[in-house]
Amino acid sequence: MASPEIDQLTQMLAKLPGLGPRSARRAVLHLLKKRETVLVPLMAALANVNERLTTCSTCGNVDTRDPCGVCRDDRRDRSLVCVVEEVADLWALERSGLFRGVYHVLGGRLSALDGVRPEDLGIETLASRVAQGGISEIILAMNATLEGQTTAHYVADRLATTSVKITQLAHGVPVGGELDYLDDGTLAQALKARLPV
Ligand code: ZN
Repeated sequence: MASPEIDQLTQMLAKLPGLGPRSARRAVLHLLKKRETVLVPLMAALANVNERLTTCSTCGNVDTRDPCGVCRDDRRDRSLVCVVEEVADLWALERSGLFRGVYHVLGGRLSALDGVRPEDLGIETLASRVAQGGISEIILAMNATLEGQTTAHYVADRLATTSVKITQLAHGVPVGGELDYLDDGTLAQALKARLPV
């Protein structure tokens, strides 16, 4: 029915998380109908983000600035570093507004199955951050999956010779539950009741 160009757009949108073919078709129709008020501003926003997109060289967050907005925020407690697997976890904690420290994004979790090794993650950059001084506590906020916990143990071991205090989110966090899906109340509990490793 639609032209190849419109079909291609629909297929690309259908691959986005949370969208399927049906939602993608609805989105495309909306974009075509609202060309001036939706399609054009959306294109500008996409181009703008694409042009400036970068990874924070301090914490691994994705942002349009380096250092990222979190690392630049002077009101934050830089002695408190929360270590997360993915940017999505950082964003989940930020949305909750519960944490006033800074972050370190590992970029994944150790996995023999997927061939993810310690050197594939931001573990050494975390160790250098700790070695630079000024950090008093590292909060491990890995997911409560087997791989998440294996990663947490590895990081704790790696930092064991330093004087930094290492704690872990209290699991309130359901097994297999990813941080991004937790409600704020559960996150608040997990953060408040964190335990020494
Ligand atoms: Zn940052």
